[in-house]
Amino acid sequence: LHEFSIAQSIVDSVVHEAVAKHASRVREISIEVGQLMQIDSRILKSALNLLRSGPLLDHTRIQLHPVKARFSCRRCGNKWTMNETKRQLSTVSQQLLVREPNSRELPLHFLPYFYNAFLRCVKCGSTDFEVSAGKEIMIRRVVME
Ligand SMILES: [Zn+2]
Repeated sequence: LHEFSIAQSIVDSVVHEAVAKHASRVREISIEVGQLMQIDSRILKSALNLLRSGPLLDHTRIQLHPVKARFSCRRCGNKWTMNETKRQLSTVSQQLLVREPNSRELPLHFLPYFYNAFLRCVKCGSTDFEVSAGKEIMIRRVVME
């Protein structure tokens, strides 16, 4: 599972850092989860809870922060978010979309490498844009003692 390998690398890197800094325990781990990453936060959180072990991570508080996707046009400089792509996405074949159960969010959880094929700048129509947020998983903060 995607979420489990991500959880494993988060745990590994936090433990690595804690050991390097001679910490006795990790109080808190704060993780940013990009909207385009196709991550189920609940699964990621249970994976993290399953994988942490040992005194270092016994009482660690784990917090996940969703990061909305943001796009930025290389031609006209326009910046926009997922909500503004609603109409474009309605033309995408439903078979390519993965709907999240119980979610009112846009079904933009198709494979990340597809968005360049289906999205364009909402202002000038260019397909030359970059994803400026929402496509990464980052450890934002680790509190150790
Ligand atoms: Zn543009």
